[in-house]
Amino acid sequence: MHEFALVRSLLSQVAQIVEADGGGSVQEIRVRCGPLAGVEPTLMREAFALLRRDSAFVEAELVIREEPLRARCRRCDQTFEPQRFRFRCPHCGSVDTITESGDAVMIESVVVGG
Ligand SMILES: [Zn+2]
Repeated sequence: MHEFALVRSLLSQVAQIVEADGGGSVQEIRVRCGPLAGVEPTLMREAFALLRRDSAFVEAELVIREEPLRARCRRCDQTFEPQRFRFRCPHCGSVDTITESGDAVMIESVVVGG
């Protein structure tokens, strides 16, 4: 399952952040997850529950914020929320658009206690 690898890599990124910040036990990890990231939040939570057992993350909570999809039109520079994954600009009709958010899983914040 691909969420397992993803959570593993998230945890190793968090471990590096915490390490660089002087260590401590992680209380909360907040991530943003977009609809195009191709991950199931439920599966991410399951993977996290398994992976945190034998690590510095035993006390940590994983908070997943589902982020809306946003795109920007390259012709008129307006942003919009694509409906049913149709990337056509509602302002000028152009299909020359780029995804601004919603296509990745990103660490938003990490809370470290004592
Ligand atoms: Zn446009």
